[in-house]
Amino acid sequence: MRPTATLLTLLTAALLPLTAAAQKTYLHCGRLLDVRAGRLLTEQTVVVENGRVLAVQAGYAAAGSGADKVIDLKNRTVLPGLIDCHVHLEGETSPNGFLEEFTLNPADVAYRAEAYARTTLRAGFTTVRDLGGSGVNVALRNAINRGLVVGPRVFTAGKAISGTGGHMDPTNGYRLDMMGVPGPAEGVANGPAEARQAVREQYKRGADLIKIAATGGVLSVAKDGSAPQMTEEEIRAAVETAHDLGLRVACHAHGAEGMKRAVRAGVNSIEHGTLMDDEVFKLMKKYGTWYVPTIIAGKSVADSAAKNPNYYPPLVTPKALAIGPRLQGTFGRAYKAGVKIAFGTDASVYRHGVNAKEFQYMVEAGMPPLEALRAATLNAAELLGQTDNLGALEPGKLADVVAVDGDPLQDVGALLRVRFVMKQGAVYRQE
Ligand SMILES: [Zn+2]
Repeated sequence: MRPTATLLTLLTAALLPLTAAAQKTYLHCGRLLDVRAGRLLTEQTVVVENGRVLAVQAGYAAAGSGADKVIDLKNRTVLPGLIDCHVHLEGETSPNGFLEEFTLNPADVAYRAEAYARTTLRAGFTTVRDLGGSGVNVALRNAINRGLVVGPRVFTAGKAISGTGGHMDPTNGYRLDMMGVPGPAEGVANGPAEARQAVREQYKRGADLIKIAATGGVLSVAKDGSAPQMTEEEIRAAVETAHDLGLRVACHAHGAEGMKRAVRAGVNSIEHGTLMDDEVFKLMKKYGTWYVPTIIAGKSVADSAAKNPNYYPPLVTPKALAIGPRLQGTFGRAYKAGVKIAFGTDASVYRHGVNAKEFQYMVEAGMPPLEALRAATLNAAELLGQTDNLGALEPGKLADVVAVDGDPLQDVGALLRVRFVMKQGAVYRQE
């Protein structure tokens, strides 16, 4: 201990003159998207200090001192770091996905998660909500925060929660003697008391938010993909407990009845929302519930199931074909109905790193590009409860900055051509 501590003190002392001089970075932006005003500004400078935006000013400001850095983005369009409100960094789709649950150790999952995290950040997504995994996602968040591995800022739900045999039961499809009887500690809760316990378990393990599944889902090895799987009483118990602990609740749902129960019980967001009807739209507006659509996930599962009948286990294929293709239409109707929308993709269900394809699907369904970008910035920051830090390039907010080739307001495909990524003042991609 002793020699290491002394060495560290010496090193810190040697580095101090460099770090204490409050070095600034000047980003010279040819075009800068002001997401709040909805305007594309030209020739702007974003000044970054200590990981935050210090100022945004017209013209190309010169660096103040020799220690300052200038980054030339004069040929790029600069925008706030993108936020994906629905990813799973622990895994990625594969025809071997089900088998891998039996062959991968937690360390294997962790190394893969690290790679997916890096890919996600390089794609311009500087913040994500991880909506469920084994708990490796909590360790990944901590490692990223400590600067040990490269990835986006992660808000994680830890292990997601549902009832026995529900979408989040980790033993669905197993041989009987391997199923065991998972309980609240494993994310399986029956009755309000267990729902409370399951939420508290995730809180104790370090979750930033809670994910529940109010209805069946596509990729669980179970027959039904949309019927309700939690009672309103169970959902309310989970939501009240989470909110008491300062955690928000994201709720997976495909069928309308499960969504109605969840919205009335006070969840903060509905994920997927495939079979939303007019009554759900009305309820969501009344309760201020967010919708996180994940259109790309629906398209991707339907596509994989159609191309390869053996891609998914037999119980999953018909659900993928029936539910997947309906998401985009639902999204279009929800947007027209005035439901609040935050960007989310369910990355892992499709390949990590192409999250921005979702923008194209949103625009195809009738949302203007600016609104789609707001869903992934201002709106997502609001859903996360992070409006002071995230969602716009404004003084005081974290310096999460992305630059792309082209004008995303004319062609959202530009968001797939990310050339520069800064997270909290540090550059992770520069081309
Ligand atoms: Zn998901």
